[in-house]
Formats: sequence, structure tokens, C-alpha cells
Amino acid sequence: MQRTEDYTRQLEAAKTFILEHDQFLVVSHLSPDGDAIGSTSAMGRMLKQLGKQFVLCNEDPVPRKFETLWGADAIRQAGVEAPESRFSTVITVDCADYSRTGRSAEWIAEGADLLNIDHHPTNDGFGTCTLLKPQAASTTEILYDLAVSLGVAWTEPLATSIYTGLLTDTGGFRYSSTTPAVMRIAAEMLEHGAQGSVLAERMLETVTRSHIGLLGKAIDSLSFSSDGRIAWMGVHLQDLEEAGASDEDLDGIVNYPRNIAGVVIGIFVKEKEPGVFKASLRSSGADVSAIAQRFGGGGHIRAAGCTLRGSYEDVVAQLVTEAGKAIS
Ligand code: 5GP
Ligand code: MN
Repeated sequence: MQRTEDYTRQLEAAKTFILEHDQFLVVSHLSPDGDAIGSTSAMGRMLKQLGKQFVLCNEDPVPRKFETLWGADAIRQAGVEAPESRFSTVITVDCADYSRTGRSAEWIAEGADLLNIDHHPTNDGFGTCTLLKPQAASTTEILYDLAVSLGVAWTEPLATSIYTGLLTDTGGFRYSSTTPAVMRIAAEMLEHGAQGSVLAERMLETVTRSHIGLLGKAIDSLSFSSDGRIAWMGVHLQDLEEAGASDEDLDGIVNYPRNIAGVVIGIFVKEKEPGVFKASLRSSGADVSAIAQRFGGGGHIRAAGCTLRGSYEDVVAQLVTEAGKAIS
């Protein structure tokens, strides 16, 4: 468990880092989720309110449901564009390790001053300054503390972005990470103008037609370990191509195996390119971040991910074997 004094010291150092620099690159992880885009937007908005210069960047495009967040339309796509020059002052948000920045790394100068703000317990402390709170529900929960520490004025766009990270990373304020502190911050963000029901409808409830089509395919592949405590399903490249699907169409599908009564670990596997599979792991008890780390990935105790190579059967067999060890 992190000591409060350590976190307070990190917060002070992060504040100094921001106040002492003028021009920043703000980066989050590839295949960005609500916390990644919410944190990028909130960090950018804080820098704007402090009168700083900054560029926002991600390897991948912004999922449609997060497009209305402040600054989301200005996030540069590192996989498509090259920078005019590399940045020597960088803030990463919601990235557990440097490789999670993906091709955004091409925008970062060698030896850059890098502030790493994150809540993943698997964070390896990369960068020159770290602001890490593993018990935080989202990276935006940490950005709330930073906003208070910097004395930034509360505006509706900032409140909405902070609320977005809390809403999406807690699965709509349902996971065990939903502490009284999370609810207090969320309440404060509502007071500052975040529209809770509109955001929940757009970010959690609405699904695409492709999502439903792919869910059907995935459910056809649903399988269980002999004791019923591990469940998995997957989609192949061909399913994704036929559906004309993008990453966001797969959002939430991993919850189906995880939510089945008696299942402790749910696994969802997506073929990214021939023979390369992205696995999402979810659990109701076991530590899936340890399983993901064994395959070079990471995440949280109850939600983690990694990438494996091989055939679908091969990849699933490896994951199920490790999952079996984790719950035995
Ligand atoms: P998802 O399964 O939704 O992609 O990710 C679940 C959690 O695991 C998120 O917190 C995400 O950041 C983390 N995660 C997913 N894939 C990876 C990976 O390859 N490496 C690391 N370090 N974390 C990952
Ligand atoms: Mn997060």
C-alpha cells in the first residue's frame, strides 16, 4: 500500500514539473479508452488554463463516443502523422509502461523530461518524474488531485473529462474501485457541469450494430474450462473484416464471459493481424494482471491485457493454462 506522504511528495513534484516547463506533449496509450482520452483531454485543458503550450497525441484515433470531450478533435494521430520536431517535455497519462505509448514515442525526443501519471499497479516507473496512485479508480482521479494542487479553476470541460475517466474505468461506478472518494469527486464534477446521464448513455449504454453482430460471433465461440471457472471467447480477423468493425465495436464484449455465474476469469481474444491476438482478461477475484504480465502485458488485478502470437487454439490454451494456475 502506498504511503500518503509518498503520494503527496509525488504530487508536489508533478506540480513543479508542470509549472517549470512551458511546452508539453501529452500522450496516452494505444487503443485509447475513456480514461485515456478523458485524461489526455483533462491534462490539456489544465495546461490551457495555466497558459501553457501543448500538443495532444495518440497512436490511434479517438473512439467516436469520446469525440465530444474537450480537445479530442485536436489529438494528433501518431500512427498517421509525423511531428515537425520531437518534444523534450512529455506527460504520459494512463500508460503502465513506455511501450503503451506506441508510435507516439516517435514524437518524443531522446532523453526527454517525462512526467508519468498513472494508476496501474504494474506501472514500471518509466520517465523522469512519476505520479502513481495504484488504488485510484482512474488516472483522472489523480488528475483531480493535480488540478486541486495547481489551483486550476473548475470549468465544465475539465469536469466532464475527469468524470469520463471515473465513469468508464469503474464500469459506471460499479467496480470495487468505486470508493467514497470517487463518488465525492464525481458529485463535485456534476456540480461543475458534467452531464452524468448523457455521458453514461453515450459512453456505456449505446452500442453499434457491428458490436451486436460481433457479439453474436463471439458468443458462438464461448467455451468453458472443465470446472466452469474460466470462460473464453474470441473473434477472428475475418469476422472483424466482414463486419467492417473497429476496436470500439468490441468494447465491453469481454464482460460477457466474465459475468457468467461461477466464472472467476473471463477471457476475450481478438485477432489483430494473422497469428497475432490481443487478449483481454477480466476476473471477479483472481489477479489477472499477473497472468497478463507473464505474456508481456499488464493492467489491474481485475482487468488486464496482453498480446500473444500463434494460432487461436494455441493462444487460448496458453491463457487458459495460466488462468487455471491463478485460480488453483
Ligand atoms: P483491455 O483488456 O480493456 O484492453 O485492458 C484492460 C486493462 O489492462 C487496462 O487498464 C489496460 O490499460 C491494461 N492493458 C491492456 N493491454 C495491455 C498491455 O498490452 N500492456 C499493459 N501494460 N497493459 C495493458
Ligand atoms: Mn485507466
